[in-house]
Amino acid sequence: MEDKIDLNRLCVHTQTTKPWDLHTCIKEYHKVGIPHLSIWRHLLENQDLKLVKKALEDHQLKVTSLVRGGFFPSVSKSVRKEAIQENKKAIDEAKAIGAPLVVLVCGADPKQSLETSRSQIQEGIQNLLPYAKEANVRLAIEPLHPMYAGDKSAIVTLEQANDMAELIDDPFIGIAIDVYHLWWDNQLQKQIERCGKHNNIFAFHVCDWLSPTTDMLTDRGLMGEGSIPVREIRKWTEKAGFQGPIEVEIFSERLWGINQEDYLKQIKQAYIEHT
Ligand code: ZN
Repeated sequence: MEDKIDLNRLCVHTQTTKPWDLHTCIKEYHKVGIPHLSIWRHLLENQDLKLVKKALEDHQLKVTSLVRGGFFPSVSKSVRKEAIQENKKAIDEAKAIGAPLVVLVCGADPKQSLETSRSQIQEGIQNLLPYAKEANVRLAIEPLHPMYAGDKSAIVTLEQANDMAELIDDPFIGIAIDVYHLWWDNQLQKQIERCGKHNNIFAFHVCDWLSPTTDMLTDRGLMGEGSIPVREIRKWTEKAGFQGPIEVEIFSERLWGINQEDYLKQIKQAYIEHT
């Protein structure tokens, strides 16, 4: 029976089932025994967050993280200031729905060097940390694949994320390891060990890399469909001490186009067989 399959650590990002609104995600995930979810912020717009929290509790769903804050760098000082305000709003929302973590897509401004963007990211996080601590919400730097270095993240390797987290050195700042962004790196195993040693593995995201990838954003694969050794990387995180939820985060026009209830079954299967 389905119930006997161990889904204890399975988490699904709401963006994975993008055609569904928040309350459909909550209802449908619960129906198939998924115990965790990560919520994308746009789904909280115009929602009563108390009711969201209650709906999550009623369906025994735990929120792993709120996605996403960040986007700190800019050549404009006022834009950098606005980013801090926006991140505080994200922290407020996380607190209101009971999410212990906000994932940071750190940002980059193509009009300046990556080094400058990285120092603005560090400054942004340091400005934000007291607010995050007050709210008891942790922050996770998510290094992105280098193809996004132009405008989405000046942090593109786990080594860079480790460097920054260790420099900031605070129990409220850590790292979200996403196999899609990091699988190609021959330093990955070593950097995961390092990340664990500093208690900085805050989250673990999975999907697969398709060849050819036909879209930089929305052509991710289901685990087992591509070339990422997801299970091996998962083992590295566990060896490094990580025991948290395993978050299925897939952006795919192809998979958004199929029946989403069938898709959830495929996700469970891929989780069991390939993750
Ligand atoms: Zn991710």
